[in-house]
Amino acid sequence: MAGIEGKVVVITGASSGIGAATARHLAQRGACVVLAARRPDRLAALCGQIVAQGGKACYRVTDVTRRADLAQLVGLAIEQYGKLDVLISNAGIAPISLLDELRVDDWDNMIDVNVKGVLHGIAAALPIFRRQGFGHFVHTLSTAGLRIVPTMAVYAGSKNAVRAISEGLRQEAGDKLLVTTISPGYVDTELPSSMSDPAAREKGLATMKQMAIPAESIAEAIAFAIAQPDNVDVGEIVIRPTAQA
Ligand code: NDP
Repeated sequence: MAGIEGKVVVITGASSGIGAATARHLAQRGACVVLAARRPDRLAALCGQIVAQGGKACYRVTDVTRRADLAQLVGLAIEQYGKLDVLISNAGIAPISLLDELRVDDWDNMIDVNVKGVLHGIAAALPIFRRQGFGHFVHTLSTAGLRIVPTMAVYAGSKNAVRAISEGLRQEAGDKLLVTTISPGYVDTELPSSMSDPAAREKGLATMKQMAIPAESIAEAIAFAIAQPDNVDVGEIVIRPTAQA
């Protein structure tokens, strides 16, 4: 089905930043959006705004590190709207630091959220997409995976793991399923709040202030991929500030 009107779109990481902007944008264009993240107050507020503006939205508090949460989330989409067209696995964290600092808990968390969170989404949605005979996975990666710099090793590794998983998924998907990866550069969001290393957070905030582009730019790029006809797979999108090296 080409276009966005009437599509049922589940979005993880919808409580702020890119996920929230994407939810607003898609709902304005007639999609039914199912919002997911851990903060219930944020989800309730965004859902209320979308519905007040005439859009269709619901939400479920979801921790993507828990496989059962993803199963319940896609279940909510089916229960509310009768189908699932798109799963946007966008939830992510970036507690970056130099490897020498041995912030091993941060490494674990990045793998759990950024990699396993996406796998849990695939496990939940793939059987539904197969049954329906259509479906679209959208995975948020990062330009950090394209140009790897100090402090970003594990974060970039997590995003590149998802890059490989996404390509494998595309290879196995056949002609009925679509797989899109989007790699943003610096985007003005709350991501630095997930940076536990003060030096990395300060640097991240300064770079964001200097050059970050708005989350709406990423939302529009995601919408472009979702709006294509069923036989047009927008595989990879890279979108970054012009000032970014
Ligand atoms: P935000 O911090 O604004 O958004 C991150 C989202 O992920 C929040 O909604 C957060 O919600 C959610 N989240 C974090 N952990 C979990 C979890 N365990 N379960 C469910 N949801 C979770 O940052 P962005 O919007 O920037 O990040 C969105 C994606 O974009 C991420 O994958 C990030 O890596 C990627 N990205 C961002 C860039 C940037 O410059 N901003 C650049 C490149 C990629 P809550 O805390 O309520 O759970």
